This record gives sequence, C-alpha cells and structure tokens, in this order.
Amino acid sequence: MHLVDNLTSAGIIKSQIVRDVMSNVDRANYVLGGHSSNAYDDTPLSIGHGQTISAPHMHAHALEELLPPLLIYASEHPNDPVSILDVGCGSGYLTSCFGRLLSNAKGSEQTPLGIRGKAWGIDFVPYLVEMSEYNTKKADADLLESGTVSFLRGDGWKGLPDEAPFQAIHVGAAADTFPKNLMMQLAVGGVMIIPVGPQLGGQALYRIERVKESPTFNTSDFVMTQLLGVRYVPLVHAQK
Ligand code: SAH
Repeated sequence: MHLVDNLTSAGIIKSQIVRDVMSNVDRANYVLGGHSSNAYDDTPLSIGHGQTISAPHMHAHALEELLPPLLIYASEHPNDPVSILDVGCGSGYLTSCFGRLLSNAKGSEQTPLGIRGKAWGIDFVPYLVEMSEYNTKKADADLLESGTVSFLRGDGWKGLPDEAPFQAIHVGAAADTFPKNLMMQLAVGGVMIIPVGPQLGGQALYRIERVKESPTFNTSDFVMTQLLGVRYVPLVHAQK
C-alpha cells in the first residue's frame, strides 16, 4: 500500500508490526463514502459531526509510541490479557488497529503482540460509536465477533474505570488540562499518548508513563514527555 510505504520511507512507521497493522486495517473502510478517493492521502478527513479522522501519520506516531511498552508488558506477562483504551475513537480506525495487534494475522498462530487482550473505543457522540461499529463490520468484523474490540459511548474525562487498568491509552482529542481520572486508569508501566493544550494553538502531544502507583493522584507517579506540536479538536467537557 502506497500510504504505508510512504510513511515507512518518511521514518514515521519504524516497526514491521505497525507496518503490518496499518496495512491490515483498510482506512477506506473508516472514511465517509464521499472521501473514499482520498482515503490513502496523509491528511485528516471529515467524518461528520464536526469531527475528523486523524491523518495516518498521527496514527502511525501513536502506534509506534505505544508499541514498546505493550511489547514489554507482553514479554513480562505472557499469559495475561492486555487492555487498551482509545478515547475519542471517531470512526473507529485506530481502535481497529489496536485490535489487530491483539488478533492473529491470517495464517499465523500468534498475535503481532504475542498475547491477546481487548481494545475499547469510546466516544461521546453516539452516532460515531455506531459508525465505528458499522465501519469495523465491513472488513474487520472478526475483531468485534471475538470480543477483541468493543465500542461504547463514554466520556474521555471519566475513562472506563470498570475496565481499568490499561496498559495503553490513546486520546484522540486535545485536553485543556491533564486528565487525572484517565491517568489514574493507567497500569504501572502503561503509557498514554494525549494531545494537551488550548484550542487556539499551543497544543502538544504528550507521552505519559505511569512509573508507580499511589492510592491518590500523585504527580510523581508519572513521567511526562512532550513529543511534538499538534492540532486536535477539543476533548469536550460533558455538560453537567
Ligand atoms: N481518534 C479518531 C478520531 C479523532 S476526532 C481518529 O484518530 O481518527 C476526536 C474524537 O474525539 C471525536 O470523535 C469526538 O467526538 C471525540 N471526543 C471529543 N470529546 C470527547 C469526550 N469528552 N469523550 C469522548 N470522546 C470525545
């Protein structure tokens, strides 16, 4: 696929695993019909409701950042399932990529990560939760049938406390402050990739790793690294 080849030669896709996962989830199934001719362009596209599917290079960045901690978890816990949370799943593409990390490729006895588990996609727009399911059913229905991927309506500021802790969390919308509830749902050794910053410029993508666990929120449990400047739609605060 040209798109994946281009992202690889640009050095954004670095690993064979991310290359395989992005090749195996066809982005054309996750864009609106009217945009299918642009499905393999490295640009964000509208998915309706004022939202967009992110550019493929952002998905590649997120997958490359989250892969190393997931591989460490898999090698240290070969018999335990892994849990991944994708907040603001939009049209479902990245959640399905996470699902592909956890399911056998055709003809293979093993998952790309080496272990199984579950990827949750949540979005606060019910229409987008339905769209994610609809899109996934086109060519990735096995992910839903096996329970490897589930989409739910949910608020990213709250996360999914009943399913926590997560070894990886991706947030697809920009938070105006660091979301403590969500950070508390990271497993020790887990990593969150999240854009943080104001709407009008100045957002940055952060990597937040939980290095230890205190009973209440403690900044020193987390190592935060600023990765790159970005521009995302806001992680909306639900109306009270
Ligand atoms: N992650 C997708 C979509 C990104 S667009 C992708 O990479 O293609 C950002 C998404 O965040 C939108 O679908 C929007 O509905 C969702 N969103 C915004 N605020 C949210 C919140 N508080 N809780 C859950 N989802 C939210």
